[in-house]
Parts: sequence; C-alpha cells; structure tokens
Amino acid sequence: MKTLSIVVPCFNEEEAVFLFYEETKKILQKMKNGENEKSKIESFEFVFVDDGSSDKTLDALRQISNKDENVHYLSFSRNFGKEAALFAGLSKSDGEYVAVMDADLQDPPSLLPEMLFAIQNEGYDCAATRRVTRKNEPPVRSFFARRFYKIMGKLSNVPVVDGARDFRLMTKKFKDAVLSLSERNRFTKGIFPWVGFKTKWFDYENVERVAGKTKWSFWKLFLYSIDGIIGFSTKPLVFSAVVGVVSIFASLALILFIIIRRIIFGDPVQGWASLVCFITFFAGLQLTALGIVGLYISKIYTEVKQRPLYVIQEEK
Ligand code: UDP
Ligand code: MG
Repeated sequence: MKTLSIVVPCFNEEEAVFLFYEETKKILQKMKNGENEKSKIESFEFVFVDDGSSDKTLDALRQISNKDENVHYLSFSRNFGKEAALFAGLSKSDGEYVAVMDADLQDPPSLLPEMLFAIQNEGYDCAATRRVTRKNEPPVRSFFARRFYKIMGKLSNVPVVDGARDFRLMTKKFKDAVLSLSERNRFTKGIFPWVGFKTKWFDYENVERVAGKTKWSFWKLFLYSIDGIIGFSTKPLVFSAVVGVVSIFASLALILFIIIRRIIFGDPVQGWASLVCFITFFAGLQLTALGIVGLYISKIYTEVKQRPLYVIQEEK
C-alpha cells in the first residue's frame, strides 16, 4: 500500500485536462478508499507537465493544483516535445508506483486498478498497454504505422510492440532504470522495452480523444519513426555498406563483360545512355548512404552538445 504517481504530458490541452483530472481522480479515490477489490493505494499524486502550451493549459493546471494538494505541475519555457515532458514528469514523481498517461483520456484510467494488481500481486515491474484496434484512425496512417512496426521489429534489437501506447504503470525500480538512460534523442517506445524487467500487456480498443485534436501530423510521425530506427539500430549503416560491396562486384562483372565484348566486336562508339544510367544510379546510391551516415552523425552531434532536455519556467 503505497503512493501512486500519475505523470501527464500536456500540450495545448486546456479542455481535456479538467476532464482527465476528474475522471482519473474518481478511480484513484476508489483505490485509496479500498472500494476497489483489485488494488489499494495509500495515496496518489498527479504530476502534470505543461509542454510549452500556447493555450490556457497552464492556467488550468494552476487552478487544479490550488484546489488539490495532490496535484503538482511543471511548466516548460517552450514546447520541448512529449519525450522531454515524460522525462521531466518521471523525474519529479515521487511515488513507489508511477503511471504515465496522455491528457486526452485515450488511455483509459479504468485500467489502472488491474495494472496495479499485476504489479502488486503477480510479480511484474511494469504494466503496459496496447491498442488492438486502430479504428477512427486515418487508414493511410494505420498502414504506415503497421509498416513502421514491421521494419522496426526487423532492424532493432529491442521488441517494439505494434499498437503499444506510452500508457504504462511501473515500479520505482523500473522508472529509475528509464531515467538512467540519459540520451538526448529519446524514443520512449524503445526505451521501455530496452530496460527489460517483467512486463504484463493489457489490450484495449482504441478510444477517441475527449477534446482538442492530435498533436501529431503525418510528417512529425515520420520523423519520429526515423528517430526510433536511428536510436535503436545500427543496421542501416551495415545495410549501406553491404549495398556498396554488392555494387563493386556488379561493376566488376560489367567490366569483364565490356572487355570481352570489345575483344569480340571491336570498339564502336556507343553506350553513352547506359553510362548516364549508371552514373545517376550510383550517385543516388552514394547520396543515400551518405544521408544514412549523416543521420547518425546528427544524432551524435545533439548528444555531445549535452543540452538540457527542457527548461522549466514554473513549478509547483
Ligand atoms: N504532447 C506533449 N508535447 C507535444 C505533443 C504532445 O506533451 O509536443 C502530449 C499531449 O498533450 C498528449 C500526449 O502527449 O497528452 C499525446 O499526444 P496526442 O494525443 O496528440 O497523440 P496521439 O494520442 O494522437 O498519438
Ligand atoms: Mg491522444
């Protein structure tokens, strides 16, 4: 029977944040009063992280925390992204158990008791959730999301689960392990499985957000997926090296072919078209390989600068 912290990254969630607080608090109160037969806690706290919202999210957080002493918040000086918000919230949280949840109620708080039960009674260190449907999501997005998980599964050494949400409940031990990864390029979907421990998965149907709209454009998701691949796999580098070696052999074969043709048929001037094709093809190949190397170098560059993940302007 201990404290449960709820960490919530919020970016322009002025409407959702109240609804989230009310809804989640009901569940937590029940767990605290022992009305929930599954699991019991001694106390709970909320740690909201305002990720540089431009709407009234911060006002909403101030209001909630003035009324309720169990509510703490952090406010960033600008938008630093969900990954930074998660890191800040986890660092500030104090409970023996910590849950990370989105502010839009897409992560159903009604799952919390079962998730805590798995940790308290079944020997798990983490309870994770996975959407089993993607209904109400644009089909193009679902298609590319599926492809991403396939590619990621093949490339990286950590199992990244299709449909996995960031909604997780973990022990302090698990949280400390997550925080011990101090990298700047954070990809939580890879960090959680990377730290290991026993994780129990909970499936649920996709829920629509209660208010506001998604912060992820297709392009943002695409860049995020590249971050994930670069952060958790070096196979693209191996791949470009292999392609390089294969093309050396292909060109050797071609040289042989041309020499033999020269001996048999003489040397009429021809072949400029094929020459142009080869030049453009290999220029493309070289640029691609260079681009892949460049992506890794850019990540090294941001790592070595060791800039802080976020800047706090207000805290309570
Ligand atoms: N979020 C954030 N910073 C950002 C973008 C999003 O803190 O730069 C928060 C957002 O407020 C929400 C959560 O991350 O609580 C998930 O965002 P969203 O619901 O837009 O993503 P989706 O559920 O559509 O994947
Ligand atoms: Mg959402």
